Amino acid sequence: MKFHEMNEREVEEALNTDFSAGLTDDDVKKRRNQHGFNELSEGEKQSALLLFFSQFKDFMVLVLLAATLVSGLLGEYIDAIAIIAIVIINGLLGFFQERKAEKSLSALKELSAPQVQVLRSGKWVRVPSKDVVPGDLLKFSSGDRIGADIRLIESKSLEIEESALTGESVPVQKTTASLKADNPGLGDMENMAFMGTMITRGSGVGVVVATGMKTAMGQIADLLQNAETMETPLQRRLEQLGKILITAALLLTVLVVLVGVIQGHELYTMFLAGVSLAVAAIPEGLPAIVTVALSLGVQRMIKKKAIVRKLPAVETLGCASVICSDKTGTMTQNQMTVTHLWSGGKQWTVDGIGYEPSGTFYSDDKRVDVKAQKSLQQMLMFGLLCNHAELTEKKGEYSIDGDPTEGALLVAAMKAGYRRESLMDQYQVLNEFPFDSARKMMSIIVKDRNGRQFIVTKGAPDVLAGISDSILWNDKRQMMTGEMKKEVQEAIDGLASQALRTIAIGFRELPANQVVLDEKEAEKNLTLIGLQGMIDPPRPEVRTAVKECREAGIKTVMITGDHVITAKAIAKQLGILTGSSKVLDGKALSEMSVGQLEDVVDEVSVFARVSPEHKLKIVKALQNKGHIVAMTGDGVNDAPAIKAADIGVAMGITGTDVAKEASALVLLDDNFATIKAAIKEGRNIYENIRKFIRYLLASNVGEILVMLFAMLLALPLPLVPIQILWVNLVTDGLPAMALGLDQPEDDVMKRKPRSPKEGVFARGLGWKVVSRGFLIGIVTLAAFMLAYKNNPDQLGYAQTVAFATLVLAQLIHVFDCRSEKSVLARNPFGNKYLVWAVISSLLLMIIVIYYPPLQPIFHTMAIQPGDWIMITALASVPTFLLAGTFLLRKTK
Ligand code: ATP
Repeated sequence: MKFHEMNEREVEEALNTDFSAGLTDDDVKKRRNQHGFNELSEGEKQSALLLFFSQFKDFMVLVLLAATLVSGLLGEYIDAIAIIAIVIINGLLGFFQERKAEKSLSALKELSAPQVQVLRSGKWVRVPSKDVVPGDLLKFSSGDRIGADIRLIESKSLEIEESALTGESVPVQKTTASLKADNPGLGDMENMAFMGTMITRGSGVGVVVATGMKTAMGQIADLLQNAETMETPLQRRLEQLGKILITAALLLTVLVVLVGVIQGHELYTMFLAGVSLAVAAIPEGLPAIVTVALSLGVQRMIKKKAIVRKLPAVETLGCASVICSDKTGTMTQNQMTVTHLWSGGKQWTVDGIGYEPSGTFYSDDKRVDVKAQKSLQQMLMFGLLCNHAELTEKKGEYSIDGDPTEGALLVAAMKAGYRRESLMDQYQVLNEFPFDSARKMMSIIVKDRNGRQFIVTKGAPDVLAGISDSILWNDKRQMMTGEMKKEVQEAIDGLASQALRTIAIGFRELPANQVVLDEKEAEKNLTLIGLQGMIDPPRPEVRTAVKECREAGIKTVMITGDHVITAKAIAKQLGILTGSSKVLDGKALSEMSVGQLEDVVDEVSVFARVSPEHKLKIVKALQNKGHIVAMTGDGVNDAPAIKAADIGVAMGITGTDVAKEASALVLLDDNFATIKAAIKEGRNIYENIRKFIRYLLASNVGEILVMLFAMLLALPLPLVPIQILWVNLVTDGLPAMALGLDQPEDDVMKRKPRSPKEGVFARGLGWKVVSRGFLIGIVTLAAFMLAYKNNPDQLGYAQTVAFATLVLAQLIHVFDCRSEKSVLARNPFGNKYLVWAVISSLLLMIIVIYYPPLQPIFHTMAIQPGDWIMITALASVPTFLLAGTFLLRKTK
């Protein structure tokens, strides 16, 4: 159907909908059955079976399976079956880990799915975009992404960027009139808006004509299935490291096999031992565990109201050295209440609580009757007229739908007895120039009952003062003198220094029937009526969060469109502006080059009266100084800075779709303290990854060295292949996962941020891996040699003792891995997952050693109780030795 050719009535009929009330729930259900969900179908997903088999495509696992086949053919059935069982269990473990990672990633996608505003049964409600059906009425404004194909029925300065469909990046102006062109291209359909395109300006209402795969976007959806799976820098580094480790492990294994064969061991036994060792030594499970640790961390962040949209951000968070944050709503509560008013030399205050529309006006602490104050009346009335906020009441609780700044103006006017409905009877709104944070004002053009036309403007007071040439003074319109200008400025500064956000109101009568098309023409030569100052209390938790960030080596910078003095006052209250730190305003910022900004940027803590495009400059200057920058934003114009920042942060409540899409992190509660919580979690996740890398690699080093040393000393094999595989699976796997869930150390937020260039083995990790691994290898060998010397006829017994020592040494060492400092630096048993992982690993080891049916499979023999003393003593040596040196260093 050609909806663009129809007029509104025809569209309404064709879609069988009601433009004044929207669809009912029943309609929606019926249409959903007919048209399905408003989704683009996704590409084929990897089936579970395929994912399972992909676990065995690893080269070494294939070699192991081939070796098993050989041993099967040679009649070693038990060995062959046991090895296959272990390989399968290993595969299953990998499978479940990957499934978990995949699931949590898609759950994330779901959470950050877009929402739309739709008219249902007469009420505007927000629903997930996928619930929209043809015939639904949608309302949207600047920054939204259109959720379906739409025929527009209302447009206020609406401009849409359609490059996703047409490739044309210049936004298109939209209208509502029907089109008579024959087969116009998508780019020419000015009364239509399409799924996936983005509103860059204005607002509008439209009716859905197509959803899901039936939209213009759906027809090219195949092209868009570029579901990017992003690797984090650490994952990439681990992949490179993995290659080095594989080569090293293979070389060492070949060495072990060669020396073994030279020492007279059977080639077949050495081959199997070598392959098992290679399988055990290659940390093939590491990437999967890293992914699981990252995605579990991401889930913990969700509980703290931070959604990570791009996995690499989890790591970068831990490196952040500067947080640039918006003020309004992020550091403050965005609960605005007008408390002070000023007009033409007169001042008033008004009391009341929150958004409740009752309060009294005072002048010099005496009650005043608003009806007797002409300019106050006009300021309140125009503040209500040039305003979209709605007041709602539920069980005596008042709240605002829309912009809180406008909410405050609305409530102030209602306290004086004004109601929007009765104003609408007197004035007809003809046009609107919507608010944007670069212009810092909003205007409407209205016609009163006598046919007189006015432009009414509200906005930042310094901006309005700049475009006003007259003023209401003592209730009379007068040309603005220098003296008056000075007084206005004093009034603005006076309100701002009390940390009040200030809005000025102005107007101009337009010649009758003059059609004003653009805002530049309209917003000039105004008459300034007055100022309204509103409080916006700081969020109580922000002060502490700023302090914690400072201790963690992270600087907090406030970036705000608000007045310099207001910003300063609030920054002081929050502890952001201290001692020598400076405030820079948008004007000075405009005049500076990025290079000049670099010279001073380290001293600046507050940027005030900035426009969104300044944010990009700030990010660049900070990055050039070597900082890792987190930058918040909510509007369309914030998107470039959010994208350029190392960690782009978007607001979940007030943020536009465009800002969210550009961001790596979304704050569900718009709260600054949540950024701090996410950084803390980011640091912890990275530390946990370091913990299990250290544990796994030290264990592998121990396993290789015990075999290598034994071969060099011409001893028999201290471990049989199946035992090595067992250690790899049970002793390494479970505790490593538990380390991934460890709680942060007390001082995570007391350390300097990590350098993003830091390698996997930085800060002594490499040394820890080698030295711990070496010690574990040595004690295992010692236990083996002692047992073998006491009982040379029973190699199997000595091997069981070596097996038990290796397992135990690793399970003791795992507690040491919980801290970068020492096992004594924190309660070793504080991680209950780890305690349970260790207990179950121990129990499994005991079963393998003592349960008779398993003994032939694992080549084990029951260990004499007396020997456990030696085993335990030797296994504790590495960890105790290190704890001892830690104590020594501490007492020195
Ligand atoms: P932040 O960047 O911390 O969120 P902000 O909310 O003050 O600060 P903007 O929203 O860009 O930044 O507002 C800039 C200025 O524009 C405000 O100080 C105020 O004077 C004015 N202003 C804000 N909202 C409106 C509005 N709805 N209509 C008219 N003027 C407004």
